[in-house]
This record gives sequence, C-alpha cells and structure tokens, in this order.
Amino acid sequence: KAKANGRSTYAFYSQELTSQACERVQLATSLRQALEQQQLVPYYQPIHDLKSGEIVGFEALARWQHPEQGLISPARFIPVAEETGLIAAIDRRILEQACRQTQAWLNEGRNLCFISVNISSRLFHRGELDIQVAKILARTGLPAHRLILEITESAVMEDAEGAMIQLDRLRKLGVSLAIDDFGTGYSSLQRLKRMNVHKLKLDQGFVKGLPHDAGNVAITRSVITLAHNLGLRVVAEGIELPEQAAFLLEHHCDLGQGYGFGRPQPAVNIVWQSTASMQYGQSAMAARPAVDRLPKR
Ligand code: C2E
Ligand code: MG
Ligand code: MG
Ligand code: MG
Repeated sequence: KAKANGRSTYAFYSQELTSQACERVQLATSLRQALEQQQLVPYYQPIHDLKSGEIVGFEALARWQHPEQGLISPARFIPVAEETGLIAAIDRRILEQACRQTQAWLNEGRNLCFISVNISSRLFHRGELDIQVAKILARTGLPAHRLILEITESAVMEDAEGAMIQLDRLRKLGVSLAIDDFGTGYSSLQRLKRMNVHKLKLDQGFVKGLPHDAGNVAITRSVITLAHNLGLRVVAEGIELPEQAAFLLEHHCDLGQGYGFGRPQPAVNIVWQSTASMQYGQSAMAARPAVDRLPKR
C-alpha cells in the first residue's frame, strides 16, 4: 500500500514538474514571437529631483503586452529571457524605444535631463555593448549624455575586470552609469571607487523601512554620505510614503522615484507633475488619487 502511495506521489510530482517545464518552453517560444511582433514595450516611471520636485528623468521598465494574457511584468518573463539569452535582444529593443521616445520629448520642448535604462548582465558582459549603444544613439538622435545605463552590483561582480573595461568604454562614449539595487550586492568600496560611475540607486528594500527602521536609516544615511564623498548622486527607489520622501530630502538624497510620485506608465499617459503639486512632504500627498490606494502606516 505504502509503495503504491509512493508511486502515485512520484507520478504526481513528475507530472507537475513536466507541466512547469512545459510552461517555460511555451513562454520562451512566445517570448521570441513577442520580440518579433513588437509586444515588448517600455513603461516610464518618473524620477524627481527631491529638492525642486520636478521630473528630471524617467526609468524605462520593460512590459510584455501579451495579446491574450494582457500585461506581463518583468518578474515573470525576465528569468526565462535570461535562461534563453533573449534578454540581450529585449534590452536592446527597450533601449532603442526609450531613446527614441526621450528624443521625441526633447523635441516637444520637455525639460528632461535623462532616460535611465536597465542593462542585463548578459548584454553587459558581451563586450560590444558600447558599439551597440553608439549605434542606437546615432539612429535615435539622442545625445549620449542624456542616457543613463543601470547595471546591478551583482552583474559587475560576475567579472569585475571585464566590467571595468566595459564601463570605461561606455564612459568614453559619454553615457552616464548607475549602479542599480545598490547595497544588495557585495562590491567593495575600493571597487566602487574604481568603477567610477555617476549614480547609485539605493535599493527599495532600504527605503521601505524609512524613517522608523533604525538599520535602514543608518544604511541610507551612510550610502548617501559615501556617494556624495565619492562625487556620485543618489537615486532612491520605491518611495511610497510622504515620510519616506521627507526623510530622504532631509538627508540630502538627490533624486527619487516610487509609486508615491508615479507608477510606470506608457509614454502617452505620462502626467508631467511636480511633487510640489502633490503637496510633497505633507500628509496631503496622500490626497492624490494614486496614493489613496497605498497602505497607510
Ligand atoms: P529595477 O530596475 O530595480 O526597477 C525598479 C522596480 O521597482 C520596477 O519593477 C518598478 O516598477 C518597481 N517600483 C517602482 N516604484 C515602486 C514602489 O514605490 N514600490 C514598489 N513596491 N515597487 C516600485 P518592475 O518594472 O516590475 O521591474 C522589476 C525589475 O525587472 C527591475 O528592477 C529590473 O531589474 C528588471 N527590468 C525591468 N525592465 C528591464 C529591462 O528592460 N531590461 C532588464 N535587463 N531588466 C529589466
Ligand atoms: Mg533599474
Ligand atoms: Mg533598481
Ligand atoms: Mg530594484
């Protein structure tokens, strides 16, 4: 009897595994088609200067507009894209669309400083990233100094020496560089100095606990001080609450993004709104419709 049970349990699991593997293969196949059919598009999340409140740039975030399943988030398709190597083509596609859109905004007279785009470790370590970026800038007309490439700490650490060479080439091209999810990886301070990037993006995990979590307060303050001493600017991610924004401003964090200011949106839906009109830093920020739905603490 026990044996029979064991067998059926085994059969159950193996069936489940097979269907999971099946789903992955299906996802990979339809992701390849999605690329051909232009279903991968950037959404844009505003990045505000915390002092003036103005929108100074956007982060481009990939979305898959699936004809049947609707909007699919990166959490679902990026792992498959990384496994299959499709991620490099996705990154290039998002990069090109984002550069083109930003140049269009500049042509309309929008006062934008930059567009920030995520670069996967795969594309970063491929060696010819600088050449591909140069081509995209030439095709879209966006000046190099308007582009920020976001690279994660862990991507740099995969091959630190190769990373230094690539970062150097990108810098010579005139693009800016940011370390994404800063504080979640293991880069040494020595290495951070040598990477010679322009911005650090403070991971949202640290912003979450502000201003109550003593540990996150200490980390946030240290990262801001460290960055400023090295001549870098700090972008805080995941700002949802007015008190988080107020804390970051008070501690001289330069830039910020988060649902509290604006969610990632298609280009046509962007509302060009300063945080000043959100009565930023006061509880009235919670009066904004988008913020109404945020959990209160
Ligand atoms: P990331 O680059 O660290 O981007 C920030 C993520 O935080 C985005 O998630 C954004 O929508 C989300 N976010 C922004 N504000 C808030 C907030 O106030 N609260 C919370 N809880 N979340 C907030 P998203 O768009 O789902 O992207 C997730 C990750 O997927 C990104 O993290 C990035 O690592 C990756 N990704 C997105 N687009 C691309 C892409 O085009 N290429 C590559 N290689 N990776 C991408
Ligand atoms: Mg990012
Ligand atoms: Mg990030
Ligand atoms: Mg992050």
